[in-house]
Amino acid sequence: MKNIPVVMIIFGGSGDLAHRKLYPALFNLYEQGLIHDDFAVIATARRPWSHDYLREQISDAIHETHAEVNENDVHDFASHFYYQSHDVTNVEHYQTLKKLAQDLNDRYSAEGNRIFYMAMAPRFFGTIATHINDQHLTSTGFNRIVVEKPFGHDLASAEKLNKQINASFKEDDVFRIDHYLGKEMVQNILPLRFTNPLIKNIWNTATIKNIQVTLSEQLGVEARGGYYETSGALRDMVQNHIFQIITLLAMPQPQNLEAASIHAAKQELLDSLLIPTKEEVMQHFVRGQYLGTDNTFGYRQEANVADNSLTETYVAGEIKFAKGPVAGVPLYFRTGKEMKEKKSRIDVVLKHQSNPYGSVHSNNLTIEIDPQMCIYLTINGKKITEPGIRREKLAYSFSKEELAQVPDGYERLLRDVFVNDSTNFTHWSELKRYWQFIDAVENVWAEDNQSAQPQMSEYLPYRMGPKAANHIFESATEHWIYE
Ligand code: NAD
Repeated sequence: MKNIPVVMIIFGGSGDLAHRKLYPALFNLYEQGLIHDDFAVIATARRPWSHDYLREQISDAIHETHAEVNENDVHDFASHFYYQSHDVTNVEHYQTLKKLAQDLNDRYSAEGNRIFYMAMAPRFFGTIATHINDQHLTSTGFNRIVVEKPFGHDLASAEKLNKQINASFKEDDVFRIDHYLGKEMVQNILPLRFTNPLIKNIWNTATIKNIQVTLSEQLGVEARGGYYETSGALRDMVQNHIFQIITLLAMPQPQNLEAASIHAAKQELLDSLLIPTKEEVMQHFVRGQYLGTDNTFGYRQEANVADNSLTETYVAGEIKFAKGPVAGVPLYFRTGKEMKEKKSRIDVVLKHQSNPYGSVHSNNLTIEIDPQMCIYLTINGKKITEPGIRREKLAYSFSKEELAQVPDGYERLLRDVFVNDSTNFTHWSELKRYWQFIDAVENVWAEDNQSAQPQMSEYLPYRMGPKAANHIFESATEHWIYE
């Protein structure tokens, strides 16, 4: 693997994401030789840490995520890390940071290449982008920026942030990260759809009845109530992860596997995204909040949550496209906190066709993304000793050894940033369409919130969400496959 010289600056270097995901992922890339001798990382945050203290943190992060490591490698890797106490709102601090970046560039022969990573609360993204520009932090080689989610709060704020970023970075150098796009089974959607005639030939409006995407979480909002109040499930999960998965499920076949072709195929689909009307939102969307039990808080009792809050911790709804292989087919989704189990899964439900055996179950193609990774096809066959039809599963699963080889999403996506592959990142024009859809739904809800009885369902924790979500379907013959 070719060694890529670079100085990387992480804003939010003492945070949870950096510790649990970024440092272990960078270590793996270091072990593979993608970044090796000619790289340095500057971790910044407000705390007054020393370089040595940061390096201890790096070492801890690696030991926490790796069963076995070569201690010399950990030590050598950590020696490439430098800490800079930096308040992102203080303009003067950018000059100190710039000087350190220049020194490290020279010391490590980084060829003027720079990667900036915004691993902080999203309210700071615009400020950081502005000061990278007005304090001239970009350098003479490549300059790339990785932006965590959420990218904006609605279309208007996303447009503003995009402008602030574009002042220093071209669209091709902006990597809007969505870690779902780094997941093995999400990356498996296109090969599955396009390399199997068995699947490719049924992927059409005539055969598919509906597609269902479920991303359920078992945790509540935990300590993040204050942030969650400004977001809600629709903005937090649908605007990014669910829309990305649905785009992969509904896009036409790309001309080839180049990033530009993949994005062109996604864009062709998204141009035909149907923005729901008020009536459609009221009929096909359900929002809800989890209730408390003897031992757990309901959402409205959580810290920093208003006791009359109308922020949804659960949402189910429908997405449709006017064009593409599944034009007009309903793509249902649901996501929520404090649900039965942590699960990310896709169910593709096929239409019934007339047959001489009478009423039989539908054929479903299920893709489990998390926590198990597997694909199975639910099909019908004959019962052995009596007349009738039984259901069986044809499964595609992974061995223990294969599972151990699957890299974390962040490792994959960071590698892509280093090798300049934007295939699995969100293009601005895609994001814009996602926000147009989300804003339309949010506007209907905002209006409904002014009514005497806003439509907010309640649900018992650790079950499958509000009962009302069983009635969002277009026809009485549809229901959730995963229950
Ligand atoms: P965090 O709160 O743990 O870390 C925030 C960091 O910002 C800390 O290092 C903190 O010291 C620093 N900081 C705060 N104010 C500052 C200031 N004024 N100047 C300089 N530094 C300041 O947050 P996190 O969980 O690491 O999340 C970071 C980003 O990553 C968010 O956008 C989040 O949505 C995204 N993300 C996180 C995870 C995760 O697992 N933690 C997963 C996906 C996406």
